[in-house]
Amino acid sequence: AKIFCDRLNSRGLNLNIHSEARPFYAQLAQFEQHQWQAAPLIGGEVRTNGESVTVTNPYDLSCVGTAIFSTSEQIEEALRRATKAFPLWNNSDVDIRATALEKLADLLELNRVELISLCTREAGKSLQDGIDEIREAVDFCRYYAIQARALIGADPQMPGPTGELNQLFVHGRGTFLCISPWNFPLAIFLGQVTAALATGNCVIAKPAEQTNLIAFRATELAHQAGIPADVLQLLPGLGREIGPILTADERINGVCFTGSTATAKHINRTLAAREGAIVPLVAETGGQNAMIVDSTSLPEQVITDVVHSAFQSAGQRCSALRVLYVQEDVAPRMLTLLKGAMAELSVGNPALLSTDVGPVIDATAKDKLNAHIEAISTTGELIAQTVIPTDIEGHFVTPTAVKIDKISQLSQEQFGPILHVITYSSNQIQQVIDDINATGYGLTLGIHSRNEGSAVQIARRVNVGNAYINRNQIGAVVGVQPFGGQGLSGTGPKAGGPHYLTRFVTEKTISNNI
Ligand code: GLU
Repeated sequence: AKIFCDRLNSRGLNLNIHSEARPFYAQLAQFEQHQWQAAPLIGGEVRTNGESVTVTNPYDLSCVGTAIFSTSEQIEEALRRATKAFPLWNNSDVDIRATALEKLADLLELNRVELISLCTREAGKSLQDGIDEIREAVDFCRYYAIQARALIGADPQMPGPTGELNQLFVHGRGTFLCISPWNFPLAIFLGQVTAALATGNCVIAKPAEQTNLIAFRATELAHQAGIPADVLQLLPGLGREIGPILTADERINGVCFTGSTATAKHINRTLAAREGAIVPLVAETGGQNAMIVDSTSLPEQVITDVVHSAFQSAGQRCSALRVLYVQEDVAPRMLTLLKGAMAELSVGNPALLSTDVGPVIDATAKDKLNAHIEAISTTGELIAQTVIPTDIEGHFVTPTAVKIDKISQLSQEQFGPILHVITYSSNQIQQVIDDINATGYGLTLGIHSRNEGSAVQIARRVNVGNAYINRNQIGAVVGVQPFGGQGLSGTGPKAGGPHYLTRFVTEKTISNNI
């Protein structure tokens, strides 16, 4: 029998393969000193008259380029252009839009090395994270192209016994405002943008203020791929300054946001208070993600997955593990192994493949995380801290594991390499589930157990968007593990899932008796 194995997801790069690694490093070296520029892209033109700031590498504080912010006139112009461009784009054949996204995916792969360099130098991401980031961005483009063709290009005729002609049409809503985070400066930026574009919307993109350079390059590539200039415009700027202007404007017909829960709620209130139409908010926010480890689990496997989930990307993922629950019978052994594994972590230059943990994004993040480590160490008991090089200049936070009593001691998400550990006894499992649910967050959950019945039961009873059994709990794959949470963690629908695009469209039924 013939076995068909279609690979839909991008393959990425494997630096363990010499023939892939050699040209990669040679090309990467060309971007080591490169200086990029980001500026508002309005009507396809680069506007350089606004205030400009220097972009620095979080690893060594060296200069990576310049970002120029948007002026209020430019915001107004972008809104005007988008509103005008919408009808034509929305009425274009979905196949034209989907094909442009597929072209964009190819261009991302072609420009992969530059984009990886940007991930490393602008966002402080490790090389492997950079590779994964491009792969995910490519996947989003291709996946939403497929989904858009299915959603919008489907035969509109409804089945039914009435004898009428009943048709259901699906189309875009207008102009979407996409506000993206710095922790996935390409993948989430493009995930939001491509979902909105594929469904016939115009987009005004407001990237995180820390990662304008890569967003600018991605926008240029999208235009090169055939997205019209007025259909996708980029407005760099400070979120607190331009965010409120844009969200309050009635010409914005929907908002897609990834970031903090507090900001999502703020946007929601602004949208609700506006005159005019009720518009959707797609928000993906934080988590207080737990992993539950019972006494039947395999210790070595657990620790590999714990370290990966808590410390990869310096813990700067919404999905990252924050609270590890270990059954008390196995806790001493698990914690000994955890200490050992944390001692082995290599902290430093993200551009080296051997680095496990790079810097956090900026000084503000570093100070906030360090203040938390200091505060929690006085009430909790330090389990381990990875030794980090003393001559390091950048925004580094020491990977830390600390024992605490209850998850409710953590008032907010700590977006960095800090792991909290709680022990529980076998008769407390219901309490553990209740405590996790009581946080109100619901993004990811890890479970390690060889008791399949109990693992599946726990996965069903904890209110999260993504539960992972006997593996790490980060790195959701587009189309494979649709990603996104519930409660304080976001509105859904899940990114990279079959329902995501439905939030970007409106529907119209026409019942025809002519
Ligand atoms: N999708 C990412 C993951 O599964 C997390 C996204 C985020 O941090 O916003 O790790």
